[in-house]
Amino acid sequence: MKKHNFSAGPCILPQEVFQEASQAILDFNDSGLSILEISHRSPAFVSVMEEARSLALELLGLKNKDYKALFLQGGASTQFLMAAYNLLEKKAAYLNTGTWSTKAIKEAKLFGEVVEVASSKDKNFNYIPKFFSVPDDADYFHCTSNNTIFGTQIKEFPSTSKPLVCDMSSDIFSRELDFSKFDLIYAGAQKNMGPAGTTLVVVKEDILGKVSREIPSMMNYSTHIGKDSMFNTPAVYAVYVSMLTLRWIKAKGGIKAMEDLNNKKAELIYAEIDRNPLFRGFAAKEDRSPMNATFNLTDESHKETFDKLWKDAGVNGLNGHRSVGGYRASMYNALSLESVQVVVDCMQELERKI
Ligand SMILES: *Cc1c(COP(=O)(O)O)cnc(C)c1O
Repeated sequence: MKKHNFSAGPCILPQEVFQEASQAILDFNDSGLSILEISHRSPAFVSVMEEARSLALELLGLKNKDYKALFLQGGASTQFLMAAYNLLEKKAAYLNTGTWSTKAIKEAKLFGEVVEVASSKDKNFNYIPKFFSVPDDADYFHCTSNNTIFGTQIKEFPSTSKPLVCDMSSDIFSRELDFSKFDLIYAGAQKNMGPAGTTLVVVKEDILGKVSREIPSMMNYSTHIGKDSMFNTPAVYAVYVSMLTLRWIKAKGGIKAMEDLNNKKAELIYAEIDRNPLFRGFAAKEDRSPMNATFNLTDESHKETFDKLWKDAGVNGLNGHRSVGGYRASMYNALSLESVQVVVDCMQELERKI
């Protein structure tokens, strides 16, 4: 039986994508070859890479606007250092909203001074700090749009004249934003776009080439731009599956369609968290993430009963991250409203049983 997959990442992808991706392992586009055995320099794969890069920009509304899309390796964690490597000359400003921001700050400190403009660490990152200013002499401002672990999301990005750098690993392609406000966006594929193994980087070219240090080739965005994201062997299969997912998003109506469904799913689960006396939400209401809903039992002694209920219902991956405890429902683009209803039914069933 197919599970209702609420895993935080790697995570659910569209069923249609799984089908096409598995077929391509046996015979890619009727070529008599598997996608796993073709050259990354073959015309067939070059066109996959080009379509993936082009679809990413198109869906974000950034086509023909001086942005370049790259599919790199090393995960979002490599972008923590690569962003600083390429952009940090003296000082950078960071907003600390959780585990991933904290890690990004740690890496940036290897390259220069880091000003933490605000942090929500005082409340175990259950909210997004709102009032802060970005220093005038910062080389860039970095933030994390969606905090996968704590279940908070930035709703309004600060307006700043500094280059805006954003880790969008867990909510890219999930909601409409004016993406042209951003100068560098990065996202590990495995949260909302594809399998683990590749990271989307969208960069505005004019922010590059401004630091005085020498940057090793693999760490230099300009290297990858100059080689159309093919400087070395890319993660062929991960890029291919990401491309299929991007096609799927486009066919479904683009980011707007994703956002409409994501809002419905979020409303459904948060309404139950708020209504049901056996549960309480973790994140501050105004900062709640539609991607990752974090919640706890009001009485931990019901844990065993509740866990059995959702596991028996075919739900996977509902356990919270160890730093929050409780539960986390990750509701990425490919998750259906019906799957969320299954969890809500389990929450109501627990109430009836107790
Ligand atoms: C998962 C995650 C990361 C880390 O991604 P890796 O690809 O594992 O390095 C970074 N930032 C956010 C917001 C994440 O959710």
